Amino acid sequence: MDFKEKIRVIPDYPHEGIRFKDITTLLKDGPAYKAAIEKLAEFAREKKPDLIVGPEARGFVVGCPLAIQLGAGFVPVRKKGKLPCETVQAEYSLEYGKDALAMHKDAIQPGQRVLIADDLLATGGTIQTTLNLVKQLGGEIVGFAFLIELTYLNGREKLGDEHDIFTLIQY
Ligand code: IMP
Repeated sequence: MDFKEKIRVIPDYPHEGIRFKDITTLLKDGPAYKAAIEKLAEFAREKKPDLIVGPEARGFVVGCPLAIQLGAGFVPVRKKGKLPCETVQAEYSLEYGKDALAMHKDAIQPGQRVLIADDLLATGGTIQTTLNLVKQLGGEIVGFAFLIELTYLNGREKLGDEHDIFTLIQY
């Protein structure tokens, strides 16, 4: 299947000069969504993860079906202040200032095998912050899976070369 054909590219959104990759056109196409998750699952299954970790909100759209396919658990990463129980937090930089992502403290047991999933790898800031949270809890990172990679932003470099990274579509 030509997955790239299923992605809608919106020029100048949310800022002039950005070509936004809109995955909603893939998601609403049942066979394409299923096939895309199956491709990610082929990669992820070999890594034998106990848990899939995904940042809100589009990381849920990718991470949850992936977890179900593999019979793994799912752990949400959320903006700070959204999770009800005790959390660990990690800061990340925004265009202006900083924000933080959070994960429940008891979400991962030390040594559990964790695969991180999201819709899109751009500069890698979101995923590097997610990686930081998983490390704080002692999870063993077994890989990363994304629907899309913007290769020209070199997000991979932030994740180090010791991890396997699978991306279905590249720009
Ligand atoms: P990064 O932190 O720069 O790697 O940005 C990745 C995050 O920003 C992902 O969680 C995406 O949901 C979002 N993102 C950045 N660019 C796009 C885009 O072109 N389309 C959809 N989401 C995007």
